[in-house]
Amino acid sequence: MSDAESPSEFDPVAPNTGEEFEPVDVFPDSDDFDLRPGADSCYKCSTCDTNCPVAEVDDDFPGPKFQGPEQWRLKQSDDDHDVDDSVMDCSNCMRCDNACPSGVPLSQMHNTARGEYVSEQMDKLSVEYVRNRILANYRTSAFFASKVPRLANAAMNFGPARWLMEKTLGVTSERDFPEFATQTFREWWADRGGQAQSRENARAARERRGLPADADKKVAYFHGCYSNYNTPEVGKAMVRVYEAFGYEVVAPKQKCSGTPMFANGMLDDARRHAETNVSSMADLVEEGYHAIASCTSCSMALRQEYPELFDIDGIDEVAENTFEAVEYLRIHEDLREEVREAEVDGDLAEEFAYHAPCHSRNQGLDRQAVELFRDLDGVDVEDVGDSCSGISGTYGWKEEKYEKSMAIGEEMFEHMDHAAGETGMTECPTCAMQMEHGSGYEIRHPLELLEAALVE
Ligand code: SF4
Ligand code: SF4
Repeated sequence: MSDAESPSEFDPVAPNTGEEFEPVDVFPDSDDFDLRPGADSCYKCSTCDTNCPVAEVDDDFPGPKFQGPEQWRLKQSDDDHDVDDSVMDCSNCMRCDNACPSGVPLSQMHNTARGEYVSEQMDKLSVEYVRNRILANYRTSAFFASKVPRLANAAMNFGPARWLMEKTLGVTSERDFPEFATQTFREWWADRGGQAQSRENARAARERRGLPADADKKVAYFHGCYSNYNTPEVGKAMVRVYEAFGYEVVAPKQKCSGTPMFANGMLDDARRHAETNVSSMADLVEEGYHAIASCTSCSMALRQEYPELFDIDGIDEVAENTFEAVEYLRIHEDLREEVREAEVDGDLAEEFAYHAPCHSRNQGLDRQAVELFRDLDGVDVEDVGDSCSGISGTYGWKEEKYEKSMAIGEEMFEHMDHAAGETGMTECPTCAMQMEHGSGYEIRHPLELLEAALVE
């Protein structure tokens, strides 16, 4: 589990070097998958329950302590004990992990219990199972939609179709579907010349910076589904920023990080995707690349959830060498100084209302954007508080959870409304959806601001 920093401990001058991030060795004296020592560490303080955003708005949800250590004990005393179906109401925001003072691996317990519930107890012909499977496998829908993006955009937001989806599948019609890009990130990447072009751009940048031409600067980009199919501008910004620092970028074969699958208990699907991702990233890690993700839920999956849940060759090496995109530059470059000397080019906003995703909090990155951009001339990035956005990936797309999702997000919406900026900023694509839905603001990724500041 992450040993996340609290906001007051954040020091942009001495960034998180990854040394304190130990997602694998949660239980050093036991097998990786033995949850007993974690369950035994629970001393029933209920801090996790008071930090659970779902429990705050849903009186029927028994909370993380019950979902984790208590269910685990019941299961140990009676092997036939059924997993309580309320485990499906946990949004997998992972805030309870962060809150527990005793290091109980709550989200690992929830993911394990949810996987067992779905595999052993859930009716595979039920509407809920079918709906959850479709939502969890967003990559499959997005792949087909991206072949006909204009048609898909029109169809997915056609009123009668949305009404029908709500009535038959239970996908809320309250939200606008995100638009599919007319050119995916991978199409842009291939058209641009792929790795060969990136190598050339990186060499030119190293020359401009007075660095050795053969400097060992190379990263493997885990763009995830959303940057590929919906917001390729985030992926392009990542590539351009990294190349400007002299890094060669590769975009290896990859599938979904598995985040929506964990949240829906689809662990077999998640494992299949993880096997592809670990296999291609492990080869590159062996060649000296680091894995970089622009989405904080993707970096969370690769560095914590994979080793907690799966036993795949190379998984520990990939976890240890995975970083969030801005985090990596803070570690390896004098990013603060570069930002201090930069001038923002282009038509991005000057004032941003920033929301730190729950999964960035778990990685100790929740103050990163605000602290980093503090010294950027003419730009103000205001933190809108530490509440959960409420959407938690697929959670807020479920008809029966929509109102709860909006109730959880209420605090964030209010703070956005009071912030000076009318453009939002966050690293998580589904938090961005919720921010846009609740405020009407356009939402940007910190990499887009970095690109505007640092790339000529
Ligand atoms: S915060 Fe940790 S120790 Fe306290 S009740 Fe929850 S799991 Fe147990
Ligand atoms: S992961 Fe989030 S929603 Fe689930 S029990 Fe923990 S705090 Fe509550």
